[in-house]
Amino acid sequence: MSIRTGLFAASFVALGVVALAPTTSVAQADPSFPFDVTLTRALGFRTSPSLEGGFVFSGRNYLQPPAKLKLLRATGPLWRPGTFCEAEHAGKTGYIRCDDKSAMAVGAASTTPTAPTSTPAQTNPAGAPQYKSKNSFGVSCGNTMEACTEFCKQACDILPSGGAHCPRVPGGEGLLPESSPLLKDLPRDLKYVKTDRGDKGTSETIEGLRRLDAWLASSPDRAKYNYTVHVSNCWRDGIVDSQKECYFIMKGKDPRDLKLAMPGATPHSSGKACDVHLIDAGGKNAVPSSACTADAQTGSSIDFKTASRLLDEAMTNDKVNAQRLNYEAWHYEWGGAVRDDDCRCKAPECQQKFWPPSCTPRGCKAH
Ligand SMILES: [Zn+2]
Repeated sequence: MSIRTGLFAASFVALGVVALAPTTSVAQADPSFPFDVTLTRALGFRTSPSLEGGFVFSGRNYLQPPAKLKLLRATGPLWRPGTFCEAEHAGKTGYIRCDDKSAMAVGAASTTPTAPTSTPAQTNPAGAPQYKSKNSFGVSCGNTMEACTEFCKQACDILPSGGAHCPRVPGGEGLLPESSPLLKDLPRDLKYVKTDRGDKGTSETIEGLRRLDAWLASSPDRAKYNYTVHVSNCWRDGIVDSQKECYFIMKGKDPRDLKLAMPGATPHSSGKACDVHLIDAGGKNAVPSSACTADAQTGSSIDFKTASRLLDEAMTNDKVNAQRLNYEAWHYEWGGAVRDDDCRCKAPECQQKFWPPSCTPRGCKAH
């Protein structure tokens, strides 16, 4: 199974998703703040008014239409290049681009605060297809393009532009909604393990991170290299991911050729996986999500192979007890059997049998 990376998700939105949704032009005078809007295009929800800004929800960088926001104020004239708006969404405050009126439909001015909401797509819409298969993490449309095309045809509408919009991807087992009681905020009080604000996981994941921190505290190798661990991208909204995958399936492209999975549950959508990176003493990421070759240049003082070994040893030992996806050096999970045919590995086999990580499911087989 291919595991989607945050890096890829970000570039995907930049390259394609924005073209999918119909644009709406709103013929009215500029509204006065605060006012409500409904997105008609995916927009980044950031912690600062800049395209360089980090994201408010680490598992969901881009808010997808039809997300509703309350815009509080703007950094400049509305709908002009470079203008950002401070906005409230799902109980959080952040910034979205306010430089293109066609990216959102403006609603009536409102003075009542928005209530925290779950992703609208989490309720199963009328006419939604059913998942007919299962994978290790929950529901699945199946393993073949044929089965998943059938699924996506019911979940998606073809747009006049030839693209697809997939509002009827249903929820199901292993597709935890953000509001699921099984998901908790990751701990922020660990010494050697840094987590992102807003990132969530199951209690199994959270306990694993606490065991990791304790293991690192007494690790001679951790002390020798003076490294820390950055955990990112644990739970992700599997319906949003599946919507993107259906978009490609409707174009006849197999998502697995694009480092994506088939629509359905994944380790991330079930809250059991995290993308984990080794950060050297200089703050450089020595196991980035872009490292897919033996000679990957990371800019870190610790070479990629050594850093990947250190991370495997920290994550998959008998105390911490995570397992790695054998073709991605950064993707670890708690739970499940370690079987070669499931593309999972532990130290030292990850390096002995699966080096270098190829970053595609075709690298699942031992080298
Ligand atoms: Zn991952």
